Amino acid sequence: MRLILLGPPGAGKGTQAQRLVAKYGIVQLSTGDMLRAAVKAGTPVGLQVQKIMASGGLCPDELVVDIIGQRIDQPDAHKGFILDGFPRTVPQAEALDSILSEKALDLDAVIELQVDEGALLRRIETRIADMKARGEKLRDDDSPEVLHKRLEAYRQLTAPLIAYYRGHGMLRSVNGMAPIDDVTKAIDEVLAAGGAKAVASKKKEFSA
Ligand code: ADP
Repeated sequence: MRLILLGPPGAGKGTQAQRLVAKYGIVQLSTGDMLRAAVKAGTPVGLQVQKIMASGGLCPDELVVDIIGQRIDQPDAHKGFILDGFPRTVPQAEALDSILSEKALDLDAVIELQVDEGALLRRIETRIADMKARGEKLRDDDSPEVLHKRLEAYRQLTAPLIAYYRGHGMLRSVNGMAPIDDVTKAIDEVLAAGGAKAVASKKKEFSA
């Protein structure tokens, strides 16, 4: 199973990805987590992206495409993977298409978590306040100002992927504002129906 989870910061991609990992035995590939690990380890990539990430901007396409291209080749990704936070721009999506076609792999579905932006801001602000109250360390980019910038980057650069994948017949949308378990159920239903592949093969049957 190979999936993309699409949605703005705070839409719940990470939460749903973890549930899919447990259910299908596939790996979650989060470029955000990989980049944060690089920053923490002080690698050359980490040093290059540290400021960009802290300010809420997007890292260079070639850099994240390289990271994902190599990660997909690791043995633990052979059974399948969920991309969380990648692709984030149309050029990244195009690069992913060529990486997958070179390896003769295809995607089962692109699942969009649809959320209301106002509610999203409140959700993240509550999460930040709760973490502070518990004395937990916040991420460098967990501040309301940076959050606005992350949302702006999403709107301008990532939201066009919805049309991109719809155009490729890959997009499946679920209501990300529903309770967590209901979102999981909606995703399960999309996958039980065979994701986007089932629709593509039905179309073939009809046109044959
Ligand atoms: P969010 O909580 O906003 O979904 P992530 O953990 O996915 O955040 O990513 C955090 C930061 O890492 C982003 O704001 C961006 O700077 C960088 N990043 C992650 N994935 C990508 C990507 N595919 N392309 C460019 N930058 C990325």
